[in-house]
Amino acid sequence: MRTILPREFPMSNFDFDLFVIGGGSGGVRAARFAADLGKKVAIAEKKALGGTCVNVGCIPKKLFSHAAHFSSDFEDAKGFGWSSNRPSFSWHDLLTNKNKEIERLNEIYERLLVNSGVQIIRGHASLKTKQSVSVEGHIYTAKNILVAVGGKPEIPEFPGSEYVISSDEAFYLKKLPEKVLVVGGGYIAVEFASIFNGLGCDTSQLYRGDLFLRGFDFDARTFLANQIRESGIDLQFNCSIKKIKKQNERLIANFSSGEEVSCDLIMYATGRTPLTENLGLENLGIKVDSKNAIKVDENYRTNIDTVLAIGDVTNRVNLTPVALAEAMTIVSYLYGDGKKRVDYNLIPSAVFSLPNLATVGLTEEEAREKHKEIKTFITEFKPLKHTLTDNHERTLMKLVVDNASDLVVGAHMVGADAGESLQGIAVAMKAGATKTMFDETIGIHPTSAEEWVTMRQPVKQ
Ligand code: NDP
Repeated sequence: MRTILPREFPMSNFDFDLFVIGGGSGGVRAARFAADLGKKVAIAEKKALGGTCVNVGCIPKKLFSHAAHFSSDFEDAKGFGWSSNRPSFSWHDLLTNKNKEIERLNEIYERLLVNSGVQIIRGHASLKTKQSVSVEGHIYTAKNILVAVGGKPEIPEFPGSEYVISSDEAFYLKKLPEKVLVVGGGYIAVEFASIFNGLGCDTSQLYRGDLFLRGFDFDARTFLANQIRESGIDLQFNCSIKKIKKQNERLIANFSSGEEVSCDLIMYATGRTPLTENLGLENLGIKVDSKNAIKVDENYRTNIDTVLAIGDVTNRVNLTPVALAEAMTIVSYLYGDGKKRVDYNLIPSAVFSLPNLATVGLTEEEAREKHKEIKTFITEFKPLKHTLTDNHERTLMKLVVDNASDLVVGAHMVGADAGESLQGIAVAMKAGATKTMFDETIGIHPTSAEEWVTMRQPVKQ
């Protein structure tokens, strides 16, 4: 791929070499690494540093997920001889500890930026010209501007939609609901349904289609749906809410089926949208797509050559590690040899439901379209830990193999710590591991992960 380097402008005319709008994962990474190369860099952020991931995303979500897991851990412990009264749970303590940790991370982000020599500018930034930005009335000029403002939850409008919350508010609830409805079938809905359920809320998850987690492997989605129902969540497919009324402190939801359900919290996790409002994109005629995501070329340049964009605001692969990789690529493009590239193939990811679903590569359905002939290997079992517990959680592991090359083209897992297991599988797949290499690898006994290297008989050809 040809790398087009940005046009040269004399530095002396600018306040900064790089002005980053947005202090989330991608923005902070780009700012720090550019400053470490001796560039004069500013970053503007109106909220806490760290963006979605640190403040209202990955990190607090994973902490909540750990909290939710304890409820089954206490039950499971009985099978191993532990007996005691079930400890009580304090949402207030969890929230306090979580908030403390997030503040610690905010400070770390600030320190990293300051130590790299990045100037942090507090306030809302918008583009003025192709080389200037306005923040709270001040104008700053920069040779290049990087837009890394991320996204925000999107909730459809319908009668009563003003009563629902998004994941942003779920991270700061004053009290846990007794009965909660979670609407949506993507990462966030599935993860929060498990969190609420694990923390003791009576939880229903409603998804408008036949089976949630569209785009993931069918066997894995189906298996996870069964596990989630087994964990106590009332999972309803082909179900949506038509309207919501408020009665005293309760919310009454009217389902598409005609059913009326009373609850005390309704959370919508129906997708996210790029945060492009009031950014001044229109001042420059920066092109966006039908979902308002900023359009960029292979070097993350917008149609204005001095303005670049990365991360969720470009709505491509909306994952923190992808934004970080894009940031490193930008720095290489602007200030290095421009050779660094993000490989958008084989990006692993995990849904932190309880149990987790993790995946890398092609689903069986995609592999059947892309390759002439494939084989799939599936193992489904009760993990050793649960041979002594009353927990019915089971694990599924699946490999998708291209017959012609013997390459493992897809790996999917539903089970405890599936995300941890799949990271190593992703490395093997990126290195071009074949099924024969998996078979020749010695397992670590006794683990669930050893099943990756002991699946011998294809289940589907
Ligand atoms: P997703 O886009 O993943 O899922 C949105 C869900 O909401 C889909 O099930 C969709 O249904 C449904 N939906 C959309 N519109 C409506 C509507 N009007 N009424 C009812 N249902 C609707 O969004 P999320 O909010 O879950 O997550 C956003 C992104 O954040 C993810 O794509 C991911 O990139 C990232 N993320 C990653 C995480 C991780 O790595 N663990 C965790 C959390 C988020 P349908 O399938 O029918 O379109």
